Amino acid sequence: MATKRGEEIPILPPSEPALRVFMRRLREIMADPGDGQARLDRIVRQISGLMVAEVCSIYLKRQDGSLELFATEGLRPTAVHDTRLKRGEGLVGRCAELAQPINEPDAQAHPAFSFRPETGEEVYQSLLAVPIQRAGEVMGVLVVQNRTRKEYSDEDVEILQTTAMVVAEHLVSGAVAGAGGAIEFSKSASVVIKGQPISDGIALGHVVLHEPRIVVTRLLAEDPAAEMRRLEAGIRELRASLDEMLDHEHLSAAGEHQEVLEAYRMFAHDKGWERRLNEAVLGGLTAEAAVERVQNSTRARMLRQNDPYWRERQRDFDDLSDRLLRTLAGRANGGTAPAELPPDTILVARTMGPAELLDYDRTRLRALVVEDGSAQSHVAIVAKALGVAAVGQAKGVVERVSALDAAVVDAESGEVHLRPSGEVIAAYSDKVRFRARRQKQYDALRDKPAVTRDGARISLNMNAGLLVDMPHLAESGADGIGLFRTELQFMLSQTFPRLDRQIAAYRAVLAEAHGKPVVFRSLDIGGDKVLPYLRRTHEENPALGWRAIRMSLDRAALFRTQVRAFLRAAEGRELRIMIPMVSAAFEMDAVRVLVDKEVLLLERRGYPKPRSLRVGAMIEVPSVLYELDQLLPKVDFVSVGSNDLMQFLFAADRGNALVARRYDPLSPAPLRALKTLVRAAKKHRVPLNLCGEMAGRPIEAMALIGLGFRSISMAPASVGPVKSMILGLDAAKVAARLDELMQANAPDIRGELERMAEADGIELA
Ligand code: PEP
Ligand code: MG
Repeated sequence: MATKRGEEIPILPPSEPALRVFMRRLREIMADPGDGQARLDRIVRQISGLMVAEVCSIYLKRQDGSLELFATEGLRPTAVHDTRLKRGEGLVGRCAELAQPINEPDAQAHPAFSFRPETGEEVYQSLLAVPIQRAGEVMGVLVVQNRTRKEYSDEDVEILQTTAMVVAEHLVSGAVAGAGGAIEFSKSASVVIKGQPISDGIALGHVVLHEPRIVVTRLLAEDPAAEMRRLEAGIRELRASLDEMLDHEHLSAAGEHQEVLEAYRMFAHDKGWERRLNEAVLGGLTAEAAVERVQNSTRARMLRQNDPYWRERQRDFDDLSDRLLRTLAGRANGGTAPAELPPDTILVARTMGPAELLDYDRTRLRALVVEDGSAQSHVAIVAKALGVAAVGQAKGVVERVSALDAAVVDAESGEVHLRPSGEVIAAYSDKVRFRARRQKQYDALRDKPAVTRDGARISLNMNAGLLVDMPHLAESGADGIGLFRTELQFMLSQTFPRLDRQIAAYRAVLAEAHGKPVVFRSLDIGGDKVLPYLRRTHEENPALGWRAIRMSLDRAALFRTQVRAFLRAAEGRELRIMIPMVSAAFEMDAVRVLVDKEVLLLERRGYPKPRSLRVGAMIEVPSVLYELDQLLPKVDFVSVGSNDLMQFLFAADRGNALVARRYDPLSPAPLRALKTLVRAAKKHRVPLNLCGEMAGRPIEAMALIGLGFRSISMAPASVGPVKSMILGLDAAKVAARLDELMQANAPDIRGELERMAEADGIELA
């Protein structure tokens, strides 16, 4: 609904007269002097009238997390201040916990329904509940109920959400007697919040609230035409600022910022978003309130999707909405300036996009705590790459902290201690000191080659996936990049990265490797690795599905573009390309055909060729173990993806906590599988590496060396501990011991190796 400047703007589309009247009534109620309880009572009456609902009630959250009925139209008045629901109890409690609308045509039949006889609600069937939220904090729930079975329309949901925003403002202004105490959280006591570790580490420091959210206080527009102009100007400015950031020269053309900002730019130009914002302003809201309302309803819609892709998009979208709010508030570049960051910053955020984390000065950042964020989220990927400890799913943390509070983040256990006691601080400082001392010892080993006591040189490499990982190569002293997971760049991007962007990315990686070898793995997409722009059909078992090389061979153009980018980026240097999920030898023939075509094209177009080109396969699907004599002659190297190999050998989902650790890689079956591979690789003289998580655990790395591996690749932080183990190891001795244990089908090979390490003084970190 674009309007030209100076043109008369219709106050409301003709379909929304009721909403317009309602908004006017709300404004009057708000302006009324009267006491807070009386206003709540009038609000519930108004809503029940507008929505033709027999019941409208407001529940508010108490300090203990329970919900108390504060006002109602339709339920028994005696239930007010009497009916309480425990945290998460009933559909209303569930709405508060999930912070999203609940729309139930047959509420009483719902398993979560909690019947309260004192309210007289047994005659009502349908129920719509929306959270009363302010700046992300749930303060209560607004509910309507009807006798008849019906599903409330999207418009009903939006009206109720808007009203909930008004009620939230009301509460914060302290207008409701008794409610202040109900919703206030203590911000002085020590609190422990249990979240989930998303990036390893332990940190002590002081809290910086990530761009404290703009709190929308003015909800209803005095002059809709003026609001529309403000909104249009805000959107224009937002788009211009994103364009400018994208063009800015300090952003490396290949950096991760680029991918993420491109995604935001696409969102910012989304016509549907703009239309919904316009409609909300035309409905009588201020520009800021419109942004918040659209954000809330979009979030509710996206959260209904179980797909991790949509959850990630929701985060990006939240980020963009917050940027627009700041633009409207004239604080486009708000937040804490780098110079003001304490040197031990613990960043606390409701939600954070990966680009935003990259905006902070890494040298001052100790940890990140976010209310959402899973281990697979983009911000977790970036936190790991930066080496910043991070905890996600830390529910309610933003409400419980103030800027510069002391905090301890334990990203081993997932605990966040706010305003910790002296003892907690002392215990953790010991832990941090211990880790730092170890780190110093590892640093001292950096330039020492990894050679066992009996003279076996082990090549220790690191795994990477983003440009920000690359400094770890020099810091860890790794011999090279044994696995570069190229899909991360694709996952952070909103559109398929074009050839030039891919070339720039790989060129930057090779430049940062300063001559050390880099193994680029071709796209390993599928399973939980989702690309926004590739349409997926539903798969029952995505880990066993259309992924990695299977997709590459079916979508040859996609694969060839990536190979072209590798070739162009290499320019006279060595190039190693590794293919994931190879399941049969013939697949490597198909890969070779495509690669050869690209090499021919490169020559024909006169671009410099790589000095050498090696194409290898990952060994992560058990079938190829029985085809090694056919596969190995077709490849220049192989690398075991032990994460997948173990998952497929044991048929145990690596992402399912109930089974992921159920079977030990240090048991006879997988060790025999690996031994078979070592022998075959030796016979065919094919270089062999292992790049799964196994390589990074010293005891497992010790077993790998015993099996005959001389090259392994791991997370950068594991290079030190593994090297320290290797320096004390006698490779021949562990090989002999392992042979005995395998022959005997020993039940506890791990324990036996640990005892051997202990006896021989081998450090297992
Ligand atoms: C593996 O499977 O072990 C591996 C290294 O690849 P990814 O973890 O990316 O699947
Ligand atoms: Mg794998």
